[in-house]
Amino acid sequence: MKILTLLLALLTSLVVQAQEYEPVGVEVKAQKLTGDAYYIPGMSGAATKYEGFISNAGFVVTSDGVVVFDALGTPSLAHAMLGEIRKITQQPIKIVVMSHYHADHLYGLQVFKDEGAQVWAPKGTWDYLDSETAESLLDSRRNSLFPWVNDDTYLVKPDRIIDQDTKFSLGKHEFLINYFGKVHSDGDMSLLSVTDQTLYSGDIIFEGRIPFVGDADIIEWAKTLDRVRKTKVDYFVPGHGSASDQPTQTMDLTYRYLKFLLAKLGKAVEEMEQFEETYKAINWSEFENEAAFEEANRVNAYAVYLFLESIFD
Ligand SMILES: [Zn+2]
Repeated sequence: MKILTLLLALLTSLVVQAQEYEPVGVEVKAQKLTGDAYYIPGMSGAATKYEGFISNAGFVVTSDGVVVFDALGTPSLAHAMLGEIRKITQQPIKIVVMSHYHADHLYGLQVFKDEGAQVWAPKGTWDYLDSETAESLLDSRRNSLFPWVNDDTYLVKPDRIIDQDTKFSLGKHEFLINYFGKVHSDGDMSLLSVTDQTLYSGDIIFEGRIPFVGDADIIEWAKTLDRVRKTKVDYFVPGHGSASDQPTQTMDLTYRYLKFLLAKLGKAVEEMEQFEETYKAINWSEFENEAAFEEANRVNAYAVYLFLESIFD
């Protein structure tokens, strides 16, 4: 009997060990917004800076479990986030609502999956998961974000695909998911805690830095922002940058930047100007002091130029 107990203890410790994650050096700290709504503010930087801690995540504590929004960029970060949640509640993690499937919001998912959470993701997620990029990017991050992203890190598949605006409730809390379609990524959506009047926007809004435009549909993105800007909420949590109780102000930089790119590059494409000359001729002074301008602006501008060209053809 004694041996059995010992064996059990050994087995339990092995299982616990298998779930251990490389500790993080960055400070992962939950901030209360209002009511039962919290967020984890990431730092402002390029993808592999700060141990990959460059995006925000959020969570809402209901009387019947926790709803998490996005999963951060490494399992280690998500594990640290789970520790922050556990300081506030022992309620089970029921649902993870994913704003979109991009590496910086995604690689922590397995931690919440292990907790028994259901993963809800926007339509378009499978386009990402089935793409070569998904695997090759994870492979490269196993180097650039080692040891926090490693061979044990894997891409978690969604349990439920959201393809339209969706209301749901958990405990006494009411929620609304807004599905935007292919906007910033292959599929984007936001989460509103109706009860807390707090909107988690995902990457349709970057605050305090130049957004990553990449393979976005900038026309749909700008249209989406026209719509989201009319939403009245108490707290607004962007995909990157600080949350605030001034939503219009938080949305301002992304909004101005996208409109600027559309206007300047739209005109260039229409007049069949070359990208090189166009880029040089544009006066970027309104944005050049913003964080990530050096890393992102030219790449963004070129991506938008190509996108608009493909539409005008
Ligand atoms: Zn992001």
